[in-house]
Amino acid sequence: MPLEIELTDKVAVVTGAGSGIGRGAALAFARAGLRVVVADIDLSAAEEVAAAARGLGVAASGVGCDVASLESFVSLRDAVMDRFGRVDVVMNNAGVILSGLPEQIPLSEWERVLNVNLMSIVRSNHVFLPLLLQQGSGHIVNTASFAGLYTYSFDRLPYAASKAAVVQISEGLALYLRPRGIGVTCLCPGPVRTNIMKSNRAWSTGLDIRGPGPEFRMLEPDEVGEMVVDAVRRNVFFLPTDSAVTAKLIDRATDWEGFLQRQIQEPHIIVKGSQ
Ligand code: NAD
Repeated sequence: MPLEIELTDKVAVVTGAGSGIGRGAALAFARAGLRVVVADIDLSAAEEVAAAARGLGVAASGVGCDVASLESFVSLRDAVMDRFGRVDVVMNNAGVILSGLPEQIPLSEWERVLNVNLMSIVRSNHVFLPLLLQQGSGHIVNTASFAGLYTYSFDRLPYAASKAAVVQISEGLALYLRPRGIGVTCLCPGPVRTNIMKSNRAWSTGLDIRGPGPEFRMLEPDEVGEMVVDAVRRNVFFLPTDSAVTAKLIDRATDWEGFLQRQIQEPHIIVKGSQ
């Protein structure tokens, strides 16, 4: 087991932290004694979460940041460095979802989802990685999804593809960065009670919503936030929010044909024909 990392007074930046998992993680970092920069495209939500973090006794700022823009990331880095002079934890968490049949999702929507969910991490690495490498310490948390580990629905292909790519980028970064003193955690949440479905754009009507499986319960963002802090502290790479996902991955790896057939015959429908 690696040595635990001391987190008090370290500086964490979390994108998409105005709501849901990012909010839960930002407040969990604050409870662990880190100073936090709460970044979100919704500035007032970011400021509200920063105020809640200050209420927990740490310094915190809310920053407006659109992760689809490199300029916005550069401004975020400058804001963090001006305020705190360092950055220790970068959590790339902002993400968007959509639904629709493969032939009905416009190409522009593929580009939008890949730009926010995947290219945001490329932009983040571009601005923050040189700082972490120079320091020779730090930790990156990338929020992927169960949807990036195995496929349980055919109506969110851009989302699933973006999250699968996040898993691969995270693994490659871990190979590169661990020997350089920088940790990487790939957070793979199952269902979490957040606002993500409110921002869902639906491109087909009457589709059932499929979930990852009946064995997974819906978690609260605060529970996930605590898991993230623990993973950073212990330098854990793979962070599924439910360890039962491993059985799914073993099932697929040993019998991919059967796994696919079972998904077709027994889909886990969580909402019937609502979209
Ligand atoms: P959420 O909608 O509650 O929070 C997402 C936040 O990201 C919002 O505050 C939103 O304003 C912000 N955001 C959206 N676009 C942005 C942009 N371009 N720039 C900056 N901020 C932006 O959703 P959530 O469920 O907490 O999602 C957080 C991450 O968790 C996402 O990457 C999502 O894919 C992932 N995830 C969620 C679940 C789940 O069940 N909720 C499961 C697996 C993975």
